[in-house]
Amino acid sequence: MTGCDIAPTGIACPDCGAGTLEPKRGRFGPIHACTADGCGTWLPSRPTGAICGHPRDDGPCGALMVEGTKTIPDRCSDRGCPNRNPHRLARAAGA
Ligand SMILES: [Zn+2]
Ligand SMILES: [Zn+2]
Repeated sequence: MTGCDIAPTGIACPDCGAGTLEPKRGRFGPIHACTADGCGTWLPSRPTGAICGHPRDDGPCGALMVEGTKTIPDRCSDRGCPNRNPHRLARAAGA
């Protein structure tokens, strides 16, 4: 048996608020899925518990942040958010 090393997150689902996003084996590897019945929300990466504060058209983003990879820093879970790809943001800023 493997996967016991993945600790529960206890992080509330941003969509239904009833469940939490917990580690689960997905078809293509581990994912973090909502525990509530009928809620299909899941994240491909582990949520950090932080909230994205990236400015959007209608105010701060507010979506959950998820863990990044070796090459990508922690990033926003919302596919529509520019902070979804923070490594590209940094490049675009041209610093
Ligand atoms: Zn949910
Ligand atoms: Zn965001």
